[in-house]
Amino acid sequence: MIITDNHMHLYNNLRFEALKQFKKEGGTHVFLVSLLTTCYDFPVRSGKDFGQIFDFHIDMVGKANEIVKAFSILSVHPAEITILGGKVGFQKAAEIMKKALDVAGKYVAEGKAVALKSGRPHYSVPEEVWDLSNRVLRHAFEVAKDVNCPVQLHTESFTLDGMKEIIKIAEKVGINTEKVIKHFAPPEVSKFEEIGMFPSIIASGKNVVTAAEQGSRFMVETDYIDDKKRPGSVLGPKTVPKKIKELLNAGFKEELVYKICKENPEKIYDIEIIE
Ligand SMILES: [Zn+2]
Repeated sequence: MIITDNHMHLYNNLRFEALKQFKKEGGTHVFLVSLLTTCYDFPVRSGKDFGQIFDFHIDMVGKANEIVKAFSILSVHPAEITILGGKVGFQKAAEIMKKALDVAGKYVAEGKAVALKSGRPHYSVPEEVWDLSNRVLRHAFEVAKDVNCPVQLHTESFTLDGMKEIIKIAEKVGINTEKVIKHFAPPEVSKFEEIGMFPSIIASGKNVVTAAEQGSRFMVETDYIDDKKRPGSVLGPKTVPKKIKELLNAGFKEELVYKICKENPEKIYDIEIIE
């Protein structure tokens, strides 16, 4: 059986051991997302400097593939506007982020990664920063459209209005909104379908079962961050396989698992997911 975690990180805690645990529990495929610039030893002063981070990440994903099938997602995290902005000013930070997305798009075009990650801050920011973040997000959609890849979104907490606003930006750019994925999504499968955004449900509590009760238009993730300061956060690496088993025990069919762990990611990322 194919079991896919749609959003996980490897950092400084369990590292590859996390994937061994995932595999032991039944996990087969994982999307590994690069981290904030502060998690790496590379100095970032320009968009081009993100290339070193992406190279490092892609190399790590290559090694991860010796354990499970791993795909690379390149992130220009929305919080960079604050991190980089504190050093170079917000305007300049937004420029750097846009250039970094261009670099990420190039890697995707070369087949080294399957998606971008962008979004807007999940914490409250001054209006100027919010506007700049929306412009960076718009640029992420432009790059994704050019190279025909999905964008995972890190955003403020889910509200219908907020998500609709993001979809409007995506539609203006002209990207297929089925490729706009809300990372860390609540189990609002029906609402996401209505908006036209694709949810990656955070596999906590009863979320996966709640999502499955509404259909099969979703993926699942742990957002395991592998940070030794917060071990086990957000959810441990074994969580998705465990929750999939819970789903089957609750009477849901293997066809549903096939849909959420294989067919959905295959269609969205334009990849092949095979055992
Ligand atoms: Zn994450």
